[in-house]
Parts: sequence; C-alpha cells; structure tokens
Amino acid sequence: MPRKKRQRRLLAPPSVKGFSVFGPKNRAEQVVLFFEEYEVIKLLDYDNLTQEEAAVCMEVSRPTLTRIYEAARNKVAKAMVEGKDLLIRGGNFQFDENWFRCNTCSAKFNMSKEDENCPVCHSTETISLNEYYKTR
Ligand SMILES: [Zn+2]
Repeated sequence: MPRKKRQRRLLAPPSVKGFSVFGPKNRAEQVVLFFEEYEVIKLLDYDNLTQEEAAVCMEVSRPTLTRIYEAARNKVAKAMVEGKDLLIRGGNFQFDENWFRCNTCSAKFNMSKEDENCPVCHSTETISLNEYYKTR
C-alpha cells in the first residue's frame, strides 16, 4: 500500500480567495497557490518565523517546508511577472481548528462545536470552511 502523504497543519484559512490583476492581465490561465503554500509564505515572510519554526508549526520536515516555500515563491513570481490572477485553493492540508463562515453576515470564526450560532449576528446559517476549502 502506498504511503499516505501527510497533511500539513494550517492555523487558519486566508482572509481572501485570491488576488486579481490590476490593469491588463493575461486571462489565459490563473496561477493556483495551494493552501499550504500560502501558509508557508505567511509564516516565513509575514510572521518572520525561521524555517525551523515554520516546519514545526506545519508539522512537516525542514526539507519539505523548503520545497513548499520554493514552489510558493515561484507561483507568486509567475503571477506577478506574467500578469495572472492568483487563486488560493486546494493542496494537502488540515486546519488546526474548526473554521466557519456565517452566510448571513459573512463573519469568519472558529469554534469547537458545529451546532452553534454565528457569534456576531447569531444566525444559524453557518458553513464549515474546513470542508468548504477541501473541495475547492
Ligand atoms: Zn453572522
């Protein structure tokens, strides 16, 4: 039986689904940045963690983290240089907590139980982002 690829641990989903080009753009194709690639850029370049620290956060080896980071940087550079939209979706990951989005007020929040209401507007119309992002 082939060894199952280990899922990378992510703290939280990104606040946006992607980035659109401002000005003339190459509509031929979009660049898809996997969730774990977004996360590694966030941890290293935004949170300023070392590669060792980021690898511990995502529960991957240091060489794996370096590979994910290189792929991520190549994709971001390709989108910028070639004028392509960048979508954040897919990959091999698991969120650390249960994230939800409210369909009434669009608030994003995490909580332990699925049957709770939106903490902002108390709507019961909430969807699990953990499942939502898996299928995009
Ligand atoms: Zn709400």
